[in-house]
Amino acid sequence: MLVAEVVEVTDQLNDGYDVVVIGGGAAGLSGALMLARARRSVVVIDEGEPRNAPAEGVHGLLARDGMRPAELLERGRAEVRGYGGQVASGEVGAVAREGDGFAVTLAGGRTVRARRLLVTTGLVDELPEIPGLRARWGRDVVHCPYCHGWEVRDQAIGVLASSQLAVHQALLFRQWSADVTLLSHTMPQPDGEEAEQLAARGIRVVHGEVASLEVVDDRLVGVRLTDGTVVGREVLAVSSRMVARAGFLAVLGLRPAEHPSGLGEHIPADPAGRTDVPGVWVAGNVTDLAAQVGTAAAAGATAAAQINADLLAEETRQAVAARRDAFSAESEARLCELVMSERRHGL
Ligand SMILES: Cc1cc2nc3c(=O)[nH]c(=O)nc-3n(C[C@H](O)[C@H](O)[C@H](O)COP(=O)(O)OP(=O)(O)OC[C@H]3O[C@@H](n4cnc5c(N)ncnc54)[C@H](O)[C@@H]3O)c2cc1C
Repeated sequence: MLVAEVVEVTDQLNDGYDVVVIGGGAAGLSGALMLARARRSVVVIDEGEPRNAPAEGVHGLLARDGMRPAELLERGRAEVRGYGGQVASGEVGAVAREGDGFAVTLAGGRTVRARRLLVTTGLVDELPEIPGLRARWGRDVVHCPYCHGWEVRDQAIGVLASSQLAVHQALLFRQWSADVTLLSHTMPQPDGEEAEQLAARGIRVVHGEVASLEVVDDRLVGVRLTDGTVVGREVLAVSSRMVARAGFLAVLGLRPAEHPSGLGEHIPADPAGRTDVPGVWVAGNVTDLAAQVGTAAAAGATAAAQINADLLAEETRQAVAARRDAFSAESEARLCELVMSERRHGL
């Protein structure tokens, strides 16, 4: 049976682990599950603020479509614990290189040691500065049609232009509703080919900066422009600037870099999550800004398998060295001394 108790940070953490997983969302828990099943000692340290927390359900996730984000993670934590992995709540404030491994320090001051690190801390969505917008994030202010498109289908959708991707986003949301309006906000008015594409798909363009949201009975009903015009909309699509949450890695020489897509900043890594710093892997939104829950979980599992292989390689190297050492002249003499003792001269 799976154990579902909450592990308190204070007493139950060990001093050292094969792997410390920093961040307990889909990527971190999936990685920890793989590692625990590989009989590695592993702890997940999690601050408990997954990116999709404001959303009602996780969509597009096979066999778990629509499940509450909190429930998904609750199940994940129970699965990790079921194989002897630990999950602790807390914020990692600092990491430092210590010999071949790492010291991981929590905000409260407690330090644990790790041979390897799997960093799965996700990202921060930086939203356009419009009063009231963040409060509706994940409800009727959305960003991802694959997460929310079905739920807002056929509704009056406004696409707030706040990046170069606005026209693309408007064309995308058109797949889910025939009533899409692009609000040019602070971006230049689309022209040329883009204007033609929008017109061809029946997407209206409204010029003028959005000043605030119009909300009635806890539902979005429109946006108000700075000139006072209200544009009736039931849903507002925005694109956030996505920034990896991993400031504590800077001391190891790992800093967020501009993502090639122009969508934000990420921690660069190879396809298996290996970073340029030996012993540190990353998975999920912290490195792949576009990862959804399923992708993040898959990346966590991939990185975990690579970490296990890396540990295995190190342990094999050590075993070979120890075995060779056992047959060295020095070891032979030591063994002879132990076995023969006084009698050796009589041989
Ligand atoms: C509003 C919204 C709705 C979404 N809906 C969907 C959907 O329907 N379907 C879908 O597939 N995807 C959806 N997504 C995307 C989904 O949120 C991400 O794919 C997913 O959260 C990525 O998982 P992750 O493990 O990389 O990061 P996260 O889930 O963000 O988990 C990171 C964890 O690390 C913790 N953490 C951060 N820093 C530290 C630290 N220093 N110490 C300890 N812990 C730390 C955080 O508190 C958090 O718990 C949605 C996103 C948003 C914003």
